[in-house]
Amino acid sequence: MELLLIKYASEIFLKGQNRGRFEKKLKENIKNVLKGEEYTFKTDQNRWFIETENLSSVKEKVKKVFGVYEVCVVKKTERDIEKIKEAALSIMLEKASGTTFKVITKRADKKFPMNSMEFSGLLGAHILRNTEGITVDIKHPDFPLEVEIREEAYIYVSKEKAIGGMPYGINGSTMLMLSGGIDSPVAGFLMAKRGIEIHSVYYHSHPYTSERAKDKVKELASILAGYTGKMYLHVMPFTEIQMEIMDKCPENELTIIMRRFMMKCACALADKYNIQSVTTGESIGQVASQTMEALVVSDDAGDRPVFRPLVAMDKVDIMEISEWIGTYETSILPYEDCCTIFVPKHPVTKPKLKYILEHEKALDSDALVARAVEGTEVFEL
Ligand code: ATP
Ligand code: MG
Repeated sequence: MELLLIKYASEIFLKGQNRGRFEKKLKENIKNVLKGEEYTFKTDQNRWFIETENLSSVKEKVKKVFGVYEVCVVKKTERDIEKIKEAALSIMLEKASGTTFKVITKRADKKFPMNSMEFSGLLGAHILRNTEGITVDIKHPDFPLEVEIREEAYIYVSKEKAIGGMPYGINGSTMLMLSGGIDSPVAGFLMAKRGIEIHSVYYHSHPYTSERAKDKVKELASILAGYTGKMYLHVMPFTEIQMEIMDKCPENELTIIMRRFMMKCACALADKYNIQSVTTGESIGQVASQTMEALVVSDDAGDRPVFRPLVAMDKVDIMEISEWIGTYETSILPYEDCCTIFVPKHPVTKPKLKYILEHEKALDSDALVARAVEGTEVFEL
């Protein structure tokens, strides 16, 4: 019988209590992604298996669950030497001749009557005797034939790399500033992959930014929700804030003050929903508003940790991830965003906090932020 073996990273680096938490969450997330599939979940001495008629569709779904690092289609037999020999031979007979192999036995159950080396030798000899044109290559075999002896025996020759990371929801929460661009969905994906629960906020400058721009962000959020299970998108009205800044602050400081307001609004919303941190898609030096000085001045406006997972990445590498996760095609649709409408001719690239704070005094910041939070629409995707 064929089963799916699920390997997860906890065996490498987690100990004690963390391991229990990790496994519980991962199992829950796998069950969520398999809703609607017929399957049974089995464990055998710390290994996880799924038995199902739809092996390939289940495998593709499980491969995308954060925390799973490898999946293997395995043959299960009783823990009986003759049965294992038969199953191993049938796997190798399916492979064309002209290939090389090597047997690797792992004995979780030391009561098995033969040690791993002896058993690998016995199986290898059985395969060589009963096949043609298949040879052993200890160093670089085409097919490392793995045999795991537990309560039952499991035999397999191929492993597929899964998405990796940590179970979604295990490592706290963050408010992702999600624009319609290429970067912020990638930033959100990377945080989610690390087990951090993502909530998104989009600053919408009606009527300067269109409904289509908003729909594009909703579409990006729903692509991310394909990885996380679900996602809340908060659409915040940002026009009043931008108008006030234009009206009352020096022209060359519009961008940095606007970015400070984005930070204040994200933190206020995070506070309302008990979310621990903020994430942006900024990358150092990518544009004039992403200098070290500008990031420092932006951070000053917030009251919780700000994560920028793309800070040290090149744009081409960010684009590659964006294509891989499926957000790129949507991100490049040409709808305006709020930052491109209110662009100063000569923005300060090295803002000084002292002056910015002075000029911000012209605004009633708390009231502006409170009204924006008040007017926020929430979508569940
Ligand atoms: P992106 O591709 O993510 O839009 P970008 O390179 O275009 O990034 P900016 O427009 O300067 O850079 O924005 C930097 C970051 O600020 C974005 O990655 C995003 O996290 C946040 N941001 C910008 N505009 C918005 C918006 N309208 N709503 C929410 N967040 C925004
Ligand atoms: Mg942008």
